[in-house]
Amino acid sequence: MKNFLESCFVKEVSEITNNMYRQGWDERNGGNISYLIDEEYVREYFPKDVFLRDIELGFTADESLKNKYFLVTGTGKYFKNVIKDPESNLGLVKIDNNGHVAHLLWGYKDGGKMTSEFPAHLMSHAARLKVNQKNRVVMHTHPTYTICMGACLPTDDVIFTRKLWKSNTEAVVVFPEGIGVLPCMICGTNEIGEATAKKMEEYRLVSWTNHGIYGVGETIDEAFGLIETVEKTAQIYMISLGHVVNEIPDEVILGLAKLWIVKIKPGVIDE
Ligand SMILES: [Zn+2]
Repeated sequence: MKNFLESCFVKEVSEITNNMYRQGWDERNGGNISYLIDEEYVREYFPKDVFLRDIELGFTADESLKNKYFLVTGTGKYFKNVIKDPESNLGLVKIDNNGHVAHLLWGYKDGGKMTSEFPAHLMSHAARLKVNQKNRVVMHTHPTYTICMGACLPTDDVIFTRKLWKSNTEAVVVFPEGIGVLPCMICGTNEIGEATAKKMEEYRLVSWTNHGIYGVGETIDEAFGLIETVEKTAQIYMISLGHVVNEIPDEVILGLAKLWIVKIKPGVIDE
């Protein structure tokens, strides 16, 4: 039996949380990640399910997530510490057959449990799996310029998307479907989870105004790359705000979409 601590999953999450902390996005206990791991990979480390303890979810997980395994960052844990002690800061859980309980297989060794944003994560997983069965990662973080940009704009998907696309030629190619925007809401609740999941039916990125961003993907790299591109673009937007002479013309955005064969969100650029 292989040691889960040595698995590529724990290594990837440890490395990316360290990277995100170094970006300055995850102050204190900010940010959380959940990674859906297929049972065939779990079995390489755990030939059968032996649970350390059960943790109440506090809501009912979607039917599609029952008996699924997730590697999840812990509540109150600091991203900067994951790489030093993954077994305290991360946990591998299996959602039970009723969708009410998470069975702990590994981790949270100091008695911890999943991030308080786990409802938003699980609801986002369920929403994205309906769009793309290969989706595996939900990532939440607090990138500074993205939060600044959200504070400066109306809470509107089209306006936020357009400002990003007009600021950096990468943007339309990386997220042609655009970005969803939620108004300022109370985090850690089922309500914000449901609102995020609703946006996830259309987008891989959802901005939480005055708080941060959610990104999803088939891999850690995809989720991180989406957020990284938004944050870089938001930085360009915020630094040049009020001084822009050369905004990206609509025809260049349309030309990029044509060149890279991506279908862009309708109604953002005049076609
Ligand atoms: Zn947050």
